[in-house]
Amino acid sequence: MNEQGERTMEAKYLEDWLRDAHAMEKQAEEMLKAQAKRIEHYPTLRARIDQHLHETEHQAEKLERLMNELGIDTSAVKDIGGKLTAFGQSLGGMMAGDEVVKGGIASYAFECFEIANYKALIAAAEQANQPEVVRVCREILQEEQAMADWLDQHLDDTTRTFLARADDNDVQAKK
Ligand code: MG
Ligand code: FE
Repeated sequence: MNEQGERTMEAKYLEDWLRDAHAMEKQAEEMLKAQAKRIEHYPTLRARIDQHLHETEHQAEKLERLMNELGIDTSAVKDIGGKLTAFGQSLGGMMAGDEVVKGGIASYAFECFEIANYKALIAAAEQANQPEVVRVCREILQEEQAMADWLDQHLDDTTRTFLARADDNDVQAKK
């Protein structure tokens, strides 16, 4: 609040971006679930996706708690807003597809998107003097970074396994 009792622009952007981050996590949840459901022959990838799905559910809860503490109305965040949907939908389509390689590419791109969002959110929270928001977003950022690094390190291996199986001419092998 400024001297006139109005929200500052900093506070307004911080609120908007927290809502956006929450919508992003709800979308991440849907995409990870869809991807996990289709993977059959890649147990390591499947396990890492399950782990990150669990982290993602907690991330959404953490953001809800932050918004409640800041007095931000969370009634509207229950359904996913339109802002992120175009980007998420294109990646979501890739993740939900049969090809595990396309899913891996889309997952990596989405994690990088999350990383960029949290970096901006952390800078905004620092600017708005909200140390708890900074702390929680740094925590989340570490999980996104770890997931992005893991996907980065495993995409070549996933691709080789996929291509080896593709020779089997068995459609199930692609999943
Ligand atoms: Mg996330
Ligand atoms: Fe993530």
